[in-house]
Amino acid sequence: MVDVDVVVVGAGLAGLSAARAVEAAGRTVTVLEARDRVAGRTLGGALSNGVHVELGGQWVGPTQDAVLALIDDLGLETFPTYDEGAALTFFDGQRSRYRDESFGLPQKTAEEVGRLWTKIEEIAATVPPESPWETTHGTDFDRQTLDGWLCANTDDGLALRFFRVLVPAVFSAESPELSLLHFLFYVRSGTSLETLVATTGGAQERRVVGGTHLISERLAEDLGARVRLESVVRTITHDSDGVRVDFEDGSVTGQRVIVAIPQTLAGRVRYVPPLPSRRDALTQQFPAGSVIKFHVGYETPFWREEGLNGFVLSLDDDFNVVLDNSPHDGSCGVLVGFLEGTHARDAAEMTSDQRRDLVLRALVKYFGPQAAHPFDIQEQDWMSEEFTRGCYGGRLGAGVWTEYGKAVAAPVGRIHWAGAETSDIWNGYMDGAIRSGTRAANEVLHELS
Ligand SMILES: Cc1cc2nc3c(=O)[nH]c(=O)nc-3n(C[C@H](O)[C@H](O)[C@H](O)COP(=O)(O)OP(=O)(O)OC[C@H]3O[C@@H](n4cnc5c(N)ncnc54)[C@H](O)[C@@H]3O)c2cc1C
Repeated sequence: MVDVDVVVVGAGLAGLSAARAVEAAGRTVTVLEARDRVAGRTLGGALSNGVHVELGGQWVGPTQDAVLALIDDLGLETFPTYDEGAALTFFDGQRSRYRDESFGLPQKTAEEVGRLWTKIEEIAATVPPESPWETTHGTDFDRQTLDGWLCANTDDGLALRFFRVLVPAVFSAESPELSLLHFLFYVRSGTSLETLVATTGGAQERRVVGGTHLISERLAEDLGARVRLESVVRTITHDSDGVRVDFEDGSVTGQRVIVAIPQTLAGRVRYVPPLPSRRDALTQQFPAGSVIKFHVGYETPFWREEGLNGFVLSLDDDFNVVLDNSPHDGSCGVLVGFLEGTHARDAAEMTSDQRRDLVLRALVKYFGPQAAHPFDIQEQDWMSEEFTRGCYGGRLGAGVWTEYGKAVAAPVGRIHWAGAETSDIWNGYMDGAIRSGTRAANEVLHELS
């Protein structure tokens, strides 16, 4: 039995940031991590030629000040995502090449998308990210799904289809799976819809040299033996004297615990005594999205020769979001793409050969016959990961924010909550995970003092 000031559950960016702050304040800390590695939803991989790829979270961008500062602090560097040339949109069998803000849609639909987009930005600006349930008309926004709102606000079928592809690209969930309030909150939390979607000037602007998992690995290196791997936490016992955290091979006692794991998984831990019903009910309603991420490696980034930046959005295909993810030196070509929401769930039931065919068929359609001959394809299914069970992050359906939202980050006695889903700023992103860890550490340090 180990005894420390603070026990942290989960060695992702949230848990490790929390532990770093606790340790820096001179308090003792132990981090319990279920996997045999740190970094959670960030994970380094390599194509068969040795080129590094990121199988989980990868991009950082402006206004993500917490992650950018930490990258700098840890001596890591970033480089810009390739973003030169034209993008492609596919709809109704047509291939549309564009460089402006039209998304390659016909003028009338582009104007309609622009009108809806402006409306979304305007309403999202009214959401207080620290308490979305207090939004003016918040109850009305929370009663409806995002899809219901879209259907009620446009009669342009192509504009509707556009948003039904854009939404899974951001949330890896379908528009009927989100409440309008959750969508608006998320947009506000990530600055604006424009910031969420953009490459240059937005959330996809930069990548970390060597990979984002290095952030967690460096944090863990500094924490040394305070991080304990392969320690699946099963029970948290808490009372007015302290906490006891039982994992599969032992237990740790402490003054306080920070639970820094995805909300649904937090609901699978046993709490003695049980959590208040509102908090427990929240964890029952915080599902993660569905995504399979693919990297497809080519000898060269051949699409660049045609003046393409590699960005594709298809309203006709399952594998419908693609970006250029080639190494900074362009030494080979890498396309990254996603199966999201329904498409991910369907594809998870296919064989890997069937998924590979599906992906290559789409890439050949987008970039021509050269795309049929990659030297490697890597896939990462985050839904099947026992200690993640879906990505990119959790999302709330209709009615949840207004009924249960207050419980998202509110401590329960000596139990504090961290994780990307508990952040008011950049919720669901690496930046939000880091902010949430620091916030939870500050709560704990305040109580300990
Ligand atoms: C495919 C994909 C693409 C993404 N793209 C981006 C992007 O481009 N930019 C961006 O900012 N974000 C992106 N994200 C999201 C980002 O990766 C996450 O928001 C962030 O990494 C979450 O960090 P976290 O610490 O909150 O949670 P996690 O990383 O999930 O960490 C939680 C940790 O807890 C551990 N754990 C779980 N259960 C237990 C238990 N019972 N006991 C002990 N330990 C446990 C897990 O193993 C894990 O290590 C992406 C995610 C995915 C999967």
